[in-house]
Amino acid sequence: MKTTFKVLAFAVIIGCTLVGCKSPSGTHTHTWSPWEPCAPTPATLVSEGDQERACSGCGETVTRFAALPIDTGAKWIEAEGLITGNTGNYTLNIEGSVGKAGSATATFGATPSGSLTITLKGSGKLYLTSQESLLRMGANQTLIIDGPVLEGLATGQNNATQNNNRAALYIETGGNFTMNGGTISANTSSSNGGGVYVSDGGKFTMNGGTISGNSTSGTSSGGGVYMVGSTSEFTMSGGTITGNTAGNSGGGVSANGTFTMEGGTISGNSAPSNFGGGVYVSNSGPGTFIMNGGIISGNNGATGGGVYISGTFYLVTGTIYGSNEADPALRNTNNSGTTAALYKGTTATAQRGTFTGPGDSWESKANLEGSISNTIKVVDGELQS
Ligand SMILES: [Zn+2]
Repeated sequence: MKTTFKVLAFAVIIGCTLVGCKSPSGTHTHTWSPWEPCAPTPATLVSEGDQERACSGCGETVTRFAALPIDTGAKWIEAEGLITGNTGNYTLNIEGSVGKAGSATATFGATPSGSLTITLKGSGKLYLTSQESLLRMGANQTLIIDGPVLEGLATGQNNATQNNNRAALYIETGGNFTMNGGTISANTSSSNGGGVYVSDGGKFTMNGGTISGNSTSGTSSGGGVYMVGSTSEFTMSGGTITGNTAGNSGGGVSANGTFTMEGGTISGNSAPSNFGGGVYVSNSGPGTFIMNGGIISGNNGATGGGVYISGTFYLVTGTIYGSNEADPALRNTNNSGTTAALYKGTTATAQRGTFTGPGDSWESKANLEGSISNTIKVVDGELQS
């Protein structure tokens, strides 16, 4: 079916785009039938399940990939059961509003050898109906988020009567998340990591989408994202981390591992009681934050409105807005002192520069001051006026 699809797609592109469609009656505009599952590969909840349509004018058929929509909790359970214990690539198409119980262990079971990749598509919402994580990925497992809203647990939301005790999305050691679109939102956790928890040896790649409106309570850190351990990795090349709140440090992000920001925006997060409204770089791990691009704006922390650094911070290119920004919505703010844009602890490292030394090693151009109130804008290691 795949080969057929490619051949036909090629014919359609060449035929229609370049010379017009040839049919028994000459060039015409196709009149397509509705998409329907095509034999002998019926559509299923978890796999490619091609669909087919035919033109009533010329009889030409084309096929496309489509998993059947998952639009009830029962269908989610069925899909989960079909995948659990297997390796391979599966796509789930979330439509409508789908409730799911929390996962205290890997959602799709263990994958001791081979690999398992799950892609979530669709325009629906997958939400939590009980404590623990909405989705939890183990070693050799990858979750790709392309479309749906992933919503956590919070009192009063979706008729929930309690908050969560865990991050909405949880990456175990050796697990991977790739976020291309969609939303991770509205999870209130009593432990570290409101939206996303990245274990030591876990990886999160954010190319797009939004992590928003998540929070941690009490002494828990990382309202949007919490990374633990020196080999946890988070690479952000697009998307937005916004409107998250930490009871302790790191309203948007609390980093013990390596967080690399290539683009995107960390904005409007808060850590009203402690360190780092936008980003907290921890001294355990220790954490390293590399900023190669992107914007940190409109966050609020008790100390370090934009960024609080206890570990290492390398700034190559990017903007961290401060008190002198004309647009108040862009300013990071803090509750005392002069640390609206950035605060660096006494034993921490914070420098601007470039990775142009031998083997792309770090070359510092200057240390960043301990307390910075005004906007910091750097391009290729150089401060911009
Ligand atoms: Zn036709």
